[in-house]
This record gives sequence, structure tokens and C-alpha cells, in this order.
Amino acid sequence: MSDNPLEAVRWVWMNGKLVPFKDARVHVLSHVVHYGSGWFEGIRCYETPDGPAVFRLREHLERLAASCKIFRTELPWSLDELTAAVLEIIRANDFGSCYIRPLVYRGFGTLGVNPLKCPIDVAIAVWPWGSYLGPGADQAGVDVCVSSWRRSDPGSFPSTAKATGSYLNAQLIKMEAVANGFVEGIALDAEGHLSEGSGENLFLVRGGKLLTPPLVASILPGITRATILTLAGDLGIPVREERLPRGLLYTCDEMFFTGTAAEVTPIRSVDHLPVGEGKPGPITRRLQREYLGIARGEIADRHGWLTQVEAQGEAAAAS
Ligand code: PMP
Repeated sequence: MSDNPLEAVRWVWMNGKLVPFKDARVHVLSHVVHYGSGWFEGIRCYETPDGPAVFRLREHLERLAASCKIFRTELPWSLDELTAAVLEIIRANDFGSCYIRPLVYRGFGTLGVNPLKCPIDVAIAVWPWGSYLGPGADQAGVDVCVSSWRRSDPGSFPSTAKATGSYLNAQLIKMEAVANGFVEGIALDAEGHLSEGSGENLFLVRGGKLLTPPLVASILPGITRATILTLAGDLGIPVREERLPRGLLYTCDEMFFTGTAAEVTPIRSVDHLPVGEGKPGPITRRLQREYLGIARGEIADRHGWLTQVEAQGEAAAAS
């Protein structure tokens, strides 16, 4: 049997309709195929004791709208309509925990670079997706390197937009890391400060303080990053968002990645040097437990981050 999780997908939401998986296609001359004119999200739905629930759905859809706005693309659906569509496609596929991929793209129209005459199409796919950085990475930690590829400077590419085209840079970072035997690469920004992984934000711990690069370091404003900053505040862990020099990678006590797909993944070595004692540290573990505890409904959802997939009607009727 194939271990491709996409084979479990039966329906894809496309422009308001549920389309069978095999029919969810685009024309080869669509603008997005040629010029990377797409904007997307990665969201997770978790099994909780009250049924499946989507983590921070509103914030993800707001970021999608922001990504589109930067590229002068008007979303043809309201955030409430997209919320309903996400819940509908999860139910249609009968998934419990799953990954959710909304995609807005410039479709088939003209092939000039200017996208404005091309239609704005929207698709939402869902599929079961396990540990992004490999089985057991959440417990053991991962081995990473500093990439020779840098993030673009903010005047060339807006890292605040989650655009499909930007992921060509991410692919260079990832492929180089894997070719050299690492799980992931950490990119520097154009000025040589720490930026982020190919699909994850970066956190360091030094002397009990949590450090993370700021938005000006060409990072995606990660929803998991924002979640960890809030949780650190709740737990009384001091946080600093600031430009960080590469050298700190080799002298910090703990380090971890955050991302919807990667969740909280400890980093145990960088460029073959151990991070701290070479295993996940106590602050990483504490934040990981809190994050997953809330996402899985095991710790009270005190910030209102979960949207239940089932029983929407009942919840609305009760309120
Ligand atoms: N940086 C990049 C480049 C990413 O692709 C992702 C994944 N969306 C992240 C950071 C983490 O963002 P989030 O926590 O919102 O998934």
C-alpha cells in the first residue's frame, strides 16, 4: 500500500464546489504555473476530546487575506465564507486530524507578467499529515545546518506574504540541507542575521531567555511563532524579538523550530555542533507541551484558539 497521504483525499473545494480529487486540476497555461502568482496557508486540525478542531483558523485566513492584498489580489470570498468552506471540506473527507491547504491563485487568462487580467481562483485541500521533519523529530530533535542561500531582502520580496513563488528560495535551502545530510537549513537574511528555516520560524534559548528574529529579518510572521510568544508570556519566560548574529547558534542553550507543519521541533545540532547538551532542553519541552496540550484540547483553550469542526449549529444555537 502506498504511504502517500494524498491518496486518502476524496474531495477538494474549488471555487465554491466540492470536486472529486481526480478532477481538481488547473490549466497548464494558468498564470500561477508560470509566475508563482499564488498565496496560500498551512493550517492544522487536531483531534480533541470534543471532536476535531482547527487551530487558529481565523488568524490563518487573515494572513491569507494580507498575503493577497500585498499582491493586489482581492479575495473573492469573505473570511466567514472561507471558514465555512474549510470546515465543510474537512467534514466531506471525514478526516479527524489533518493539514489544511487553502490556495488563492491567478488562473487561466493571459500570459503577460501582469496578473491583473487573470481570474482569481480559490481551492482548499485537506489531507492527513504526520510529523513534518521526520518521525520522532518532536522528541529527539533534528540536525540542521546554516544554508548558503539567503532570504531575500525586504525590498525584493515581502516575506510577510506567504506566496507560492517565494518557496523557490525555500526549496533551494531545503534541497541543499538534505543533500548534505541535514534535516533542514537555517537561512540568514540579506545582511547576515539569523532569519528562519525553509518552512519554520526559529527560536533560541540563552540564559533562560527566549530569543527570536524580528519581522525585518525576512521571516514569515508565523502563527505558531505568535502562539509561542503568547505562551512564553503566560509561563513567565522572558522573550526578546531582535536581530540575532549567526554566532549565537553555536553558543545558545536550546534551539527549536516552530511551524504549523513542524509544530515545535527541537534542534539538537547545528553545523555538526551540539546545541547545549545535544538534546531537547527544558524550556523547549515546556513550550512544546503547552502548545500541543492546547491544540489537542488537553489543556483549556484559554485564548480561544480552537474552532470545532462538528456541531457548529449546536454551538451557535447555544450562544
Ligand atoms: N516560515 C516559513 C517560510 C514557512 O513556510 C512557515 C510555515 N507556514 C513558517 C515560517 C511557520 O509559519 P506558521 O507557524 O504560521 O505555520
